[in-house]
Amino acid sequence: MDIVTGNVGWIEVICGPMFSGKSEELIRRLRRAIIARKRVEVFKPAIDNRYSDDEIVSHGDLRLKSQVVTGAAEIPDRIDWRSEVVGIDEANFMGPKLVDVAQRLADSGKQVIISGLDTDYLGRPFAPIPDLLAHAESITKTLAICVRCGNPAKHTQRLRGSDDLIVVGAADMYEARCRRCFEPGIPKQTELDFVKAKPRA
Ligand code: ADP
Ligand code: ZN
Repeated sequence: MDIVTGNVGWIEVICGPMFSGKSEELIRRLRRAIIARKRVEVFKPAIDNRYSDDEIVSHGDLRLKSQVVTGAAEIPDRIDWRSEVVGIDEANFMGPKLVDVAQRLADSGKQVIISGLDTDYLGRPFAPIPDLLAHAESITKTLAICVRCGNPAKHTQRLRGSDDLIVVGAADMYEARCRRCFEPGIPKQTELDFVKAKPRA
């Protein structure tokens, strides 16, 4: 959805699990802003350099130039204050200051479009997205497809690794699962072996 209002600033949040199309949707909205000849800037956290250092990239390989910051606090220093539209990808890695920063940008008249995971690998609300939802003018929840059963998936299933909250990875580390198939935490190895042993269609 594209919001059309006057020149007042606002916050749009796109949230959901991995593989649900958050980055695609963020890139789509930012491309439309570029077509509308708005001044657009995009930020992503340094922690997420899985695909590119200076672009946001979707799993379907859509790309858009972005600036890398170590956390939300760096955005006010780095931003060109003439920018009218500010995109922020992987917001769940930006830290708690993103809430104040997003508010400040929106209060100064900018359209702030934020994409991020709304729940973590245990299925818990993933800060700072819940607070951003409370402050946002617009919220879009994207769903992926459960790789187990094909139903709409709202969870990000971690497949291996540690109990750390943040473990950066893509399809080798995570998959989308629905409410029924989701196993909070890391699934038992026997189940993973079963998935691996399944014959290919
Ligand atoms: P996100 O930013 O939410 O992780 P992306 O925008 O990067 O998502 O990627 C979305 C794309 O990922 C889809 O358009 C589709 O091509 C691909 N994809 C891979 N696995 C799945 C899945 N389980 N469900 C839906 N899309 C998937
Ligand atoms: Zn399922």
